[in-house]
Amino acid sequence: MDGFPVTLTEAVCLGASFGFSGLFYYLYKKSWITANKLQNAPHFTIDAKLKDLLKVTPETCLQYAVIEGHVKPVDEHLSSQFKKEIVGVLQKITLKEHRLVWSGFSHIWMDDERILHQRVNTLPFALAGTDRTVVRVLSPLEAAGKYTEVTYEKFNQASYGLGDLLGQYVSGVKPKGHLEIEEMLKVDTILTGVGELKLNTDGTLSLRPPSDGSQYFLSIADFDTLQREHDSMAAWWKALAVASALAGAAVLLWVGLRYYDRWRVQAKKEQDRKEFARLRAEAERQHANEAGPRAVLDGSYRENICLICLSEPRDCVLLDCGHVCCCYLCFQSLPQPKCPICRQDIVKVLPVYHP
Ligand SMILES: [Zn+2]
Ligand SMILES: [Zn+2]
Repeated sequence: MDGFPVTLTEAVCLGASFGFSGLFYYLYKKSWITANKLQNAPHFTIDAKLKDLLKVTPETCLQYAVIEGHVKPVDEHLSSQFKKEIVGVLQKITLKEHRLVWSGFSHIWMDDERILHQRVNTLPFALAGTDRTVVRVLSPLEAAGKYTEVTYEKFNQASYGLGDLLGQYVSGVKPKGHLEIEEMLKVDTILTGVGELKLNTDGTLSLRPPSDGSQYFLSIADFDTLQREHDSMAAWWKALAVASALAGAAVLLWVGLRYYDRWRVQAKKEQDRKEFARLRAEAERQHANEAGPRAVLDGSYRENICLICLSEPRDCVLLDCGHVCCCYLCFQSLPQPKCPICRQDIVKVLPVYHP
């Protein structure tokens, strides 16, 4: 069996499907662990009882807990840059450029956006509960989840002249405009926090990124929504991992079938060759019986030489045309079953015997 059984395209498809499958499985496992941790995390109300509970907890700390409370600034608050009446504790101002980029690969203009500038302002804040108890929220920027609301959004359309248009076609980039967005975590927003809950030595409570590497969450959506999102994300990664693995298996099956097909053709050739050798031996035996021992090959051998390999004697007759022009091995290597002399279809091959 000559040649490598897997083509480059198949090898790339196989590598990509199993590679993606592995990556999706890793993401699924990660989301599953997060979803599982969220499901098992205990919920607490922010009140005086929480402090009492933490006092009797080892290291006065709960590794992964869910709390919900109103956002309150510790000292001062921030005002929106665009609507002064909106106050918050965290502010993100982003300037994005929207543009069309010419794709040489698909030959279309594709939408593209890039962040030109981002500014984040934060002030210390806490989550307030039913009584006067508060939990200080630490490192909010490390938290996953949607905890800000869009407080301002404006798109400034780009304007350009004829010269710019020419430049755009040459460079392959057409600016559409700039989008300015302000997002804020507003004061009094009800926020769900999932993280490490600690009673500090000064008697204050704080929520911070878990020290065991679990995902830290702050979300304006309620806990059930947060959990549902993670469950569906895990299910989604799982489906993608399975689909990629199936695609890989399909490629593998395809390669296997092709390999089996080639093996079958080779086996058939081998069988035909054996049958041919048997027929030839039989014919030689018959001729030997009729005309005595076979004459030693003389000058006529050269005239009888195979026209293809120029080394073996012509030992077969191609039917129906009847040409005797090649050896059996060369006949088997013909790309198509057609006579190399007259191009007629070969329907049968028989051994030819030179006395
Ligand atoms: Zn030959
Ligand atoms: Zn022929």
